[in-house]
Amino acid sequence: MRISRELVAEIAAHGRGGYPFEVCGALVGRGPLGSREIVRVVRLVNHEPDRLNDRYQIDPLELLHLERELRGTGLEVVGFYHTHPDHPARPSETDRRAAADGLSDGVLHMIFGVDRGEHVTPSAWVFRDATQSFEVERVEYTAAIVGAAADAPTGVAPGSASDDKFSPA
Ligand SMILES: [Zn+2]
Repeated sequence: MRISRELVAEIAAHGRGGYPFEVCGALVGRGPLGSREIVRVVRLVNHEPDRLNDRYQIDPLELLHLERELRGTGLEVVGFYHTHPDHPARPSETDRRAAADGLSDGVLHMIFGVDRGEHVTPSAWVFRDATQSFEVERVEYTAAIVGAAADAPTGVAPGSASDDKFSPA
């Protein structure tokens, strides 16, 4: 998948702002499976009723509204992001089960570890129905938007911000 550093920074800011709770959102993009480009990230409300610190739930109605809004634009919801406050930036068993429950082959998942509300570690995954599991999704940073800060987002793990690609932790 391809994504700009600005969008990664936007998710990181959402994650820091929501700490110590999990936050979630949608990845809006285009392109065929396997070479998606994320062009927009959309914050969604975490509808989890009880365990906001380590669970998230996306409201299907909110998602439906977003999908309606995107109709005819050539863009679609190609995946989701959520944070793991003080937990590793990789899918939990809960994440795996939730993904396996839906029709989610090829759906992208970005998971951001948020350590003590400060240090953010991005990671990217793609769910595969065939194996009922997440695979590492290779991320390529797209060129910075002209006029925008070209600096990598602060708090991104060493080895990820300075490279064009990063692997999940
Ligand atoms: Zn999770």
